[in-house]
Amino acid sequence: MSVNIRIALNPIDLSNATVDHWIGHSSDNGWVLLDRQLTANASGSGNVILYRLSDCKWFSIDRRVWIPPGYLFHLKYLDGLRGAALQEANAKLSNIRGHMYELLNACRTNYLASVTQDRDKLLADRRELVLKAHKSHFLQMGRPYPGTLFCRRPSGNRMAHCWKCGAHLESRIDVACMACHWMICGCGACGCGYPGPRE
Ligand SMILES: [Zn+2]
Ligand SMILES: [Zn+2]
Repeated sequence: MSVNIRIALNPIDLSNATVDHWIGHSSDNGWVLLDRQLTANASGSGNVILYRLSDCKWFSIDRRVWIPPGYLFHLKYLDGLRGAALQEANAKLSNIRGHMYELLNACRTNYLASVTQDRDKLLADRRELVLKAHKSHFLQMGRPYPGTLFCRRPSGNRMAHCWKCGAHLESRIDVACMACHWMICGCGACGCGYPGPRE
């Protein structure tokens, strides 16, 4: 099944594609690019996501490692080169700049695809926990377990909080109780056992 994921990402702006992104060189990974439009790169601490331009794969490193001499801003890197090596690096850099849009697109597509996979996995794990909690909800009530069905997460719902644990509706998952057809909360509660609206 497909999962809707909202990733805060601005559309690629071609006009400043070469200006807005950090292009650098790493002793281990060659030419790398920091995509400033990734929300993962926006915070001031933790890891940064870098794109390795040789194969458009991404990797994540501690922000504190993203410094010279391991990682050099491209101007700094060129500064340290002479002769043929400098020529070669300059040629490579202008090639990167000339293909910035395609490179960004390819790298970003790879990155977003793996992020989506991770979230799918997280969601599957979470669904499993919810099912366990739902079972124990019935165990607590001493009722036979009715099972579940998959459903779409509602876009809007009048009941904003779980009656049992008080959790916000957002924390519910896309499985519903077979008996009452309510979405199941992370705590396992559905409509079964609901004591009715409270004033
Ligand atoms: Zn709950
Ligand atoms: Zn139920």
